[in-house]
Amino acid sequence: MEAIENCDVMVYTKIFLKFPYKFWPCCPEKEFFIYAHERRGYYTFWQHMENAYPGSNILVVTLTNGESKRVEAQSDEDTLKEAMGVLRDMFGPNIPNAIDILVPRWWNNRFQRGSYSNYPIISNNQVVNSIKAPVGRVFFTGEHTSERFNGYVHGGYLAGIDTSKTLLERIKEEERNSDSNKFLLEPLLALTLTQTEAVSGLHKCDIPTQLYLSGKLGIPEAIL
Ligand SMILES: Cc1cc2nc3c(=O)[nH]c(=O)nc-3n(C[C@H](O)[C@H](O)[C@H](O)COP(=O)(O)OP(=O)(O)OC[C@H]3O[C@@H](n4cnc5c(N)ncnc54)[C@H](O)[C@@H]3O)c2cc1C
Repeated sequence: MEAIENCDVMVYTKIFLKFPYKFWPCCPEKEFFIYAHERRGYYTFWQHMENAYPGSNILVVTLTNGESKRVEAQSDEDTLKEAMGVLRDMFGPNIPNAIDILVPRWWNNRFQRGSYSNYPIISNNQVVNSIKAPVGRVFFTGEHTSERFNGYVHGGYLAGIDTSKTLLERIKEEERNSDSNKFLLEPLLALTLTQTEAVSGLHKCDIPTQLYLSGKLGIPEAIL
């Protein structure tokens, strides 16, 4: 419980706005634009979806933590008004209103309660070791149990492999005492891949690229 209290969960919100037509500069080199406002993090990062989904006429704005929680607490109509105010500030008063909006609520979703873990800057391995320590026969895994890559998809993926290995060892231990657990071992053996060996020693940011280049992992497009 102490370890869980020591680990923050950040909120990262991508709000999607659909328009009847494009009014923003659009070409592969012009994908992102930034808005500066007195209030830190107020609708700062914008991205168009034309490269990923041509013709979708969708803009995405990313909010984080404090701003995410504030926006989650208000109606989508209020969020739409705020976002349109920012866009009109950038592109002038004549742009069309958005015809649809999607505001994910990661903070208020009771199965999520945030977007990813964020360990304190001053912490040691003890916190993450305590968080992932099994309680009896219950094992824990996920990005928050990854020592090197918490907060990332590949952290969740690699932690899953690590946890399944630990689980296998425990099952094998029990198997030595009884033959009846063999059926549990078969599906788990299928999970023991070599990815962990393939990525050891790499920097956090290089892992998806290295896996992709080595052909061990297919990543069709960048994770945004
Ligand atoms: C908006 C956003 C953008 C992100 N961008 C990036 C990015 O660009 N790059 C990157 O690497 N990472 C990114 N992340 C982080 C990444 O998505 C997570 O680190 C990753 O999904 C964690 O995987 P996981 O399997 O550990 O947990 P999850 O994917 O959260 O899986 C946990 C599952 O358990 C379920 N669950 C919870 N409670 C219960 C229960 N009681 N019973 C049954 N099921 C339950 C949940 O519904 C969920 O499906 C982003 C996250 C968010 C929210």
